[in-house]
Amino acid sequence: MNVPFVDLQAQYRSIKSEIDQAIAGVLRDAAFIGGKYVESFERDFAAYVGAGHCIGVANGTDALFIALKALGIGPGDEVITVANSFIATSEAVTAAGAQVVFVDCDSGTYTIDIAGIERAITKRTRAIIPVHLYGQMADMEPLQALAKKHGLRIIEDAAQAHGARYHDRAAGTFGDCACFSFYPGKNLGAYGDGGAIVTGDGVLAKKIRMFSNHGRTEKYNHEFEGINSRLDGIQAAILDVKLKHVERWTERRRAVAGTYDAGLKGFVGTPAVAPACRHVYHLYVVRVKHRERVIAFLKERGIATGIHYPIPLPFLNAYRHLGHQAADFPVAGSLQGEILSLPMHGDLTDAQVDHVIDSLREAVRPS
Ligand SMILES: *Cc1c(COP(=O)(O)O)cnc(C)c1O
Repeated sequence: MNVPFVDLQAQYRSIKSEIDQAIAGVLRDAAFIGGKYVESFERDFAAYVGAGHCIGVANGTDALFIALKALGIGPGDEVITVANSFIATSEAVTAAGAQVVFVDCDSGTYTIDIAGIERAITKRTRAIIPVHLYGQMADMEPLQALAKKHGLRIIEDAAQAHGARYHDRAAGTFGDCACFSFYPGKNLGAYGDGGAIVTGDGVLAKKIRMFSNHGRTEKYNHEFEGINSRLDGIQAAILDVKLKHVERWTERRRAVAGTYDAGLKGFVGTPAVAPACRHVYHLYVVRVKHRERVIAFLKERGIATGIHYPIPLPFLNAYRHLGHQAADFPVAGSLQGEILSLPMHGDLTDAQVDHVIDSLREAVRPS
């Protein structure tokens, strides 16, 4: 039996007529950049998150960069983020001209360690970028309290957390603004690149929209220099179709996670979910010993796996100049050799899930 890590073809087959019709509509109307499809998706996604404003942009990395620029963060400023994320998070900080400061993660949830943030704050700190890693939100209540105490901005990296909640509020409603990615494999994915920034702040929303579209107020009138980073009409129309299905897919992800939990507890380290959190399982990440052997065994059984991420950001060559030691990030360092992401998506069948559980139990059985 084959169990792909994600199955975008199965997903497309299940909604083919709606998608094909949506794309045909954009072609018919030639609404390629801006226009009614982008406006409609922005309105629908803002409502889904429960935020006042949504601005579509070209991808999630740009979303983070634009958010930083719109908040006026740049040279001389420090921005705190977490050691275990995708490089886009820290790359955006550097691109904005600011200095990235890494903090270790919590040993239970693997999201940013709040005590570590407090220790990392200096006179130059301007913002914190918590990453809602794997689909679980960072511990936002103490993080917000800390930001308030020190007068810091919060930019949520919600690229993996569409529909995730902390108490009764969704990812995207806790920070000054929040950044989403619609990379095809994300919980809500386009058929190409896409991203969005949501915010409750109307003034900030206006600045974000202007910056992402050449700093323009109206055609050929530019208040300042920005960049070209827009969500296109075809992607917006596709995303609007998929948005109607995302809760159903999320519930399937959560059900699969429940089955994984029950079948794997005691055999491998299963994900810890904080009581306040609705985890949306962008990734289902276990901890195993002898990972290479386990990966090979599962591959033999037709099961694809991933590692998110094999090298913590501060240990990448890209950040060698920061001079970090393994001892600076003990938790991220301890995860590095043991984390393993199992197949997770909304189209997994019960038979596939059982096959993963049976195979993984066998793979870790002492020989
Ligand atoms: C995917 C991702 C991004 C970047 O999104 P793109 O759309 O690929 O640019 C940023 N942060 C995290 C945590 C991600 O997983």
